[in-house]
Amino acid sequence: MHITQDKVASIDYTLTNDHGEVLDSSSGREPLAYIHGHGGLIPGLEKELEGKQKGDQFVTIIPPEMAYGVRDESLLQEIPLENFHNRSEVVVGAQFQVQNGEHVHIATVTELGDVAAKVDLNHPLADMTLHFDVEVMDVRDASKEELEHGHVHGHGGHHH
Ligand code: ZN
Repeated sequence: MHITQDKVASIDYTLTNDHGEVLDSSSGREPLAYIHGHGGLIPGLEKELEGKQKGDQFVTIIPPEMAYGVRDESLLQEIPLENFHNRSEVVVGAQFQVQNGEHVHIATVTELGDVAAKVDLNHPLADMTLHFDVEVMDVRDASKEELEHGHVHGHGGHHH
């Protein structure tokens, strides 16, 4: 079975940057399962996975435009400290999730003042060329329920 629209694919992967440093990996975890063609992975990786089948291995280099995008300076924002619930955790380098419309951004604190913090809403991997080493572990049909929900139902037993 090949990876095409609406198939559930499970992949083992290692993500490295241009310097060969590992940024993320499925090593020691369950393979990453996603429904193909629903934007669950970065566009460049889904494109590479299209048509692959169980057992296929490949290495691919994905430019920022096909990964987490290029940096947008308008996403550097000042947030008054009084807006934070957990002020003691607001330190330079701290990361937290911010809801912005229907999107969830990862915000990184870049500067801390007396009344406000400067945060960067660019994705931490923005501007980065990503190197993926991938092995396709499984390909199957998605269930009707998974397609309705737009996500994979694992075997953890929980349901959302
Ligand atoms: Zn569900």
